[in-house]
Formats: sequence, structure tokens, C-alpha cells
Amino acid sequence: MFQRGGVPVVWCPQYEVDIGDHVFPVEKYRLIKERLEANGTLASADLRTPQPAKVEDVLRVHLESYWTKISEGTFTRDEEHLLELPFSPELREASLLCAGGTTLASQLAISQGRSVHLGGGFHHAFADHGEGFCLLNDVAIAAATLIDAQEVDRILIVDLDVHHGNGTASIFAEEPRVFTFSMHHQWNYPAVKPPGDLDVGLDDGVGDEEYMRLLHKHLPRVLEEYRPQLVLYLAGADPYEGDQLGGLGLSIEGLRERDEFVLNTAAKAETAVAVTLAGGYAINPSDTVVIHCGTVEAVLA
Ligand SMILES: [Zn+2]
Repeated sequence: MFQRGGVPVVWCPQYEVDIGDHVFPVEKYRLIKERLEANGTLASADLRTPQPAKVEDVLRVHLESYWTKISEGTFTRDEEHLLELPFSPELREASLLCAGGTTLASQLAISQGRSVHLGGGFHHAFADHGEGFCLLNDVAIAAATLIDAQEVDRILIVDLDVHHGNGTASIFAEEPRVFTFSMHHQWNYPAVKPPGDLDVGLDDGVGDEEYMRLLHKHLPRVLEEYRPQLVLYLAGADPYEGDQLGGLGLSIEGLRERDEFVLNTAAKAETAVAVTLAGGYAINPSDTVVIHCGTVEAVLA
């Protein structure tokens, strides 16, 4: 049903924005690409560079008043505090490129079956504000752009970042054409979790076995009942046992098994999948790179 060829991989050097001394490892995007090139994984891929998202696409999801704040750079100190990132024009450009990147990856997944974006997953951005390192919600912008263009009419967002996808759930609360499924650490940020279509909150330290049991229980059923034409998968690296901002206990091997299960389950349902990386804050930063590379290797396998 899909065209065959190299699996599209979307990447852009501008994602590495200077945010000073920060827990968010912005260098991971470059390090992931370099590692995948060094081990030969990217040799068979079809590397694509995104264009920035158009303002009209940003406004499908974000309020005009918020976009004005972003375009003029008029964040108050409280707003920057909530964003947990220093605002800069470079951050705005990177966020627009990233939203364009997730949109491109989604379009390529629809035509070619699967794709991966070496970036994205900024699921804490709401219609009217940014928070938790997320300025623009690239996943929501991509989903809304495809829906409005009538490229698809049912998208399933599978958010397996350790943190609940609060912005995405809020944005699509009243949108039946987007189903939001989040599996996350229940006692972690964000304190307030606007309900998505399916929220599975996990207790402290849940490990590989229990995590996979729950994923097996929910994901095939959601795919079967909702029958999406596209899965947008947030393959966060932060459910890892060695993550500074996590709280779950998954191993590197367990995370690889998680990714393979999502990809295989979607393939069985003949559903296209676009993968974004989302969070990852391992105490040992190279673990974050290894986990994200495992995700990409699973997509390209
Ligand atoms: Zn996260």
C-alpha cells in the first residue's frame, strides 16, 4: 500500500539552539545524527530538511495573541519561567522548523508508510502558552495541518514520553479526528493533567515488564477501535531508569522493545507511523543519545 525506498529521516542543524547551562540537552539532535551516520544506520535513509511551519499552520493550533508574543519576543519573566527556557529569536526559528519537520515527517509517513523526525515532540505547549521546554506544539500543528488539508481524518497520537502530554490533550480535547493516548509517570510534571482520550498513569519505578503489559493491553485495542490513518508516536527517552526528570524504571533494552512494539502493532494494522523523539534527560547524557538512536534504528529496520 505504500511506496518503498529509503525511510525518510527529517533533521535540521538549527535545532541546536543556545539555551545556556540547561538540563535540556540540545546537542542531542546533532549527536544522534552523527552516531547514526558513524554506525551506518543513516546510509540507507532518505535525509530530508524541513521548511519552517507557516504561520497559518501555527494558528490552526495556537492563539493569535500567543503567536504575537512569540513573533515580537514580548515574554514576561513569569511566562519565561513557565516555559523553562530563555526565549530568543533562534528558539522561535528552531520551533518553527521543528513544527515544519513533524509536519513533513507526517506527510512522508502517509505516502511511504513510516518516517522519523530527529526532533519534535513538544507536547507541553498549549494553544495560549508554552511551558516545560515547549514553545510550539509541533505534534499538534502537524496533526491539525493534515486534518485541515483533508490528507487524513483520523490521527492517533501515541505519547510515551514519561511526562503527560498536557498541551496536546488540551488542544484536541474537543476534536474527534485526533485521539490522544498518553502513558506517563502519574506523579511527575505536569501536576495538572488535562484529560486525553486515554490516559494511563503509572506509579513510581514501573519497569519493563509492567510497562509492556499495559502497552500490550491498550495499544492494539485503541488501533482496532479508532482505526487511525496515521499514528504520531512520541518516543520519549525519559521513561529510562537513569533519567533525571523521569520516575519510571525502564531499561535501554525495554525502551527498544517498546518502540518495536509500537511500530509492529501499527504495521499489523496497516497504519502509517511518524515518529518524533520527545524528551530525554539521562544522568549520563550519552544514554539519551543511545536510546533515541535505538528508536531510529527500529524505524529504519
Ligand atoms: Zn518528557
